[in-house]
Amino acid sequence: MSGMPTSPYREDLIKAEILAMTGSRPLNRSEIAARLGLGAATVSDHTRRLIELGFLRELPPQIAGRGRPKVPLEVVPDAAYTLGLRVHPDHLIGVLMRLDGSEVRRFTRPFRPGEDPVGQLAAACEEVLADPAVGARVLGIGLAVPGVIDPATGTVRLSPRLGWTDLPLRPPLAERLPVPVLIDNDTRASTAGELLFGTGRDHDDFLVLAIGDGVGMGIVLERRVHRGPAGVAGEFGHVPTSPDGPRCVCGRRGCVDAYVADYALAAQAVARGLCEEPPSPDRLRRMAEDDAPGVRALLADAGEILGRAAAGVVNVLAVPALTVIGESHVLWPYLTPGFQRAVDAGVIGVLPDLEITVRAWDDSGHARGAASLVLAASLAA
Ligand SMILES: [Zn+2]
Repeated sequence: MSGMPTSPYREDLIKAEILAMTGSRPLNRSEIAARLGLGAATVSDHTRRLIELGFLRELPPQIAGRGRPKVPLEVVPDAAYTLGLRVHPDHLIGVLMRLDGSEVRRFTRPFRPGEDPVGQLAAACEEVLADPAVGARVLGIGLAVPGVIDPATGTVRLSPRLGWTDLPLRPPLAERLPVPVLIDNDTRASTAGELLFGTGRDHDDFLVLAIGDGVGMGIVLERRVHRGPAGVAGEFGHVPTSPDGPRCVCGRRGCVDAYVADYALAAQAVARGLCEEPPSPDRLRRMAEDDAPGVRALLADAGEILGRAAAGVVNVLAVPALTVIGESHVLWPYLTPGFQRAVDAGVIGVLPDLEITVRAWDDSGHARGAASLVLAASLAA
């Protein structure tokens, strides 16, 4: 290993974490140091810089017993914004986010992946930057893209849903736009959001399970989003479960995706004679709610496959928490009997019970993640 940085951008995750933490409630420097496992001097350096930037402010000191009074720090939410865009096959969703993770606004724009994607993305960003009320406050732009993304080169290596192969996306955008631009896989973007504004508030190590038209996994270890050398880590959907299982989109058989992705559930519903047309996740949820024959069993079976594969990851990484996101989270109540059974049976006894959180989710979720993702990079720029 050369030890050379593989990424053209740097992250200042500590500053981003301080802003996120003080966004939920004011904290003094020793509380920040304890939570992040850092020394007092390091925290003082970072908070001094954030105060100089106007992103953080000191509140009146609090006298507690003997010793020096503690100075609570709070974020100045509107001091700066980040913009996140989620790229869908037919539209873009944008979220403009404050420093405390709350939303200034969100918007959607039509999008055609096959027609000058860089031009369309740049135009959507330029529209926000040109707005005199907010433009000058935008620190950076994050893009969440479905597929295999190399965040170091800013290239989309493979996105079947967008029809992109080896498309350099970040370099031309970075050239055209006046603020730092970052792209990443959509699940990992949302994982960065969970680290700053969600599960990361209580856990240093956790998994994000994204279920929808594929199954992805975000991995946070010691407060860092794990990407892998080429940015491909997290392809949980292609964990093999059965050599003679259904054919997966990747060409192999019996992957988790081939049982649990929305198209796979729909295909099984038809194959089991539960309905005639492939159902959407919402339709499946309604069928399960109505207790249509066989639907709950189908979802419990899928949940069990998902849970067994997840238990394997939990055993390897010893993570105590898992957060569920994605379009198919609506099915979770019916996936969970099988999932929980498999996790209970599969996770080794020395590990604590896995804490499972299901995140309220909508179409803008990955856009919020992308806005979180770029915060740490913008602070380093
Ligand atoms: Zn596969």
